[in-house]
Amino acid sequence: MKAPRGTRDILPPDSCLWNKVEGKIREKYRIYNYQEIKTPIFEETELFVRGVGGTTDIVEKEMYTFQDKGGRSITLRPEGTAPVVRAYIEHKLYGKSQPLKLYYFGPMFRYERPQAWRYRQHYQTGVEVMGGDSPFIDAEVILLGIEILKEFNLQNWVLHLNSIGCSQCRADYKNELIEFLKDKPLCRDCESRLERNPLRVLDCKEGNCQKLLEGVPLVTDHICQECGDHFRKVQEILSVCGLDFRLDPFLVRGLDYYTRTAFEVKTKDLGAQDTIFGGGRYDGLSEEIGGPRAPGMGFGLGMERLLLAMKQEGQERGIKSYLDAYVVAVGDKQLLQGWNTLREVRKAGFSADMDLMGRSLKSQMKGANRSGARYALIIGEEEAEEGFLQVRDMSSGEQDKVQKEDLVKYLAWGKEEQGK
Ligand SMILES: [Zn+2]
Ligand SMILES: [Zn+2]
Repeated sequence: MKAPRGTRDILPPDSCLWNKVEGKIREKYRIYNYQEIKTPIFEETELFVRGVGGTTDIVEKEMYTFQDKGGRSITLRPEGTAPVVRAYIEHKLYGKSQPLKLYYFGPMFRYERPQAWRYRQHYQTGVEVMGGDSPFIDAEVILLGIEILKEFNLQNWVLHLNSIGCSQCRADYKNELIEFLKDKPLCRDCESRLERNPLRVLDCKEGNCQKLLEGVPLVTDHICQECGDHFRKVQEILSVCGLDFRLDPFLVRGLDYYTRTAFEVKTKDLGAQDTIFGGGRYDGLSEEIGGPRAPGMGFGLGMERLLLAMKQEGQERGIKSYLDAYVVAVGDKQLLQGWNTLREVRKAGFSADMDLMGRSLKSQMKGANRSGARYALIIGEEEAEEGFLQVRDMSSGEQDKVQKEDLVKYLAWGKEEQGK
């Protein structure tokens, strides 16, 4: 049996790297004062049809939708924002102090053609800030995402920024766009998008569509005064933060709910310029799914993509996980002493292991090596007799004789040195 097409298992040591990366992202969220929300991995289908939009590729082609035994139409969540907004409305979180700053981690599901690093179940983290429309919120969300990339020393990225206006000003723009595009030989997908979702033509990757866009009216020339002011303010704040960005009037994002600010951070690490994370403002989404007016802003970041970019730039090496100690002991008496040492070291909070298979000294030393442990704690006959250990630094090969009662202090000192 194999894992279903488009899915994969995450095995050690990748899973260790994964957890470390997730831990560092959680720490960033904590520093920015965001709190976690966990929503179900499936929702009523209607949520995504109304929230994401019935004419988007996601809803038309990519959802895992099924009927449960009670006859309800259920969909595995294809994205993280609509469920968060649903929970915000359901639990009346708009009654709490606003804006509400939330983050999530979890799997998302899209029935896409499997390609390298595109999975039908992929793991995503994201933030949603609900209940405020200040441009400072837009800037904070973008900045937080960028901080995550910086945390992992990623370099090859560019921030693309656009405003796609609000529901009022975009309607006029849509009409202009349709007027401009209607006689052009668009690809089949765009042909059908033209009436329902004309903005999507702007980021079509098929056939000639990009070439046909020469001279196309730009959304930023058509947004209303308020949207224009908001967009200028966002740019101003980002500039104050020293953040470079590229204005990209063709950036529209694939989901219907976006308004005003839209952004994507693209990197060369993922092959042809690809998005490592992106998001935007969705001021109408709450009302769209039956809630009160509650502007929102967020981003989603694919963990697989982040990890791939880190590997491409060689940045995953710096955050390998270490085992602090590996106990080596042969012989009945030594084994039992080794076992006690292992317990003591673990109790003091160090990660430690030993051979549990009764192997020879030589294989145990190999095991210590393979485990990536910083120290081997070697207990031979003499050591067992006299109550000390040989502590071997596995990278330098240096060995110290350490009294049993000093061991924990010694390991703590080593860890401090390592941190420098
Ligand atoms: Zn507007
Ligand atoms: Zn097209």
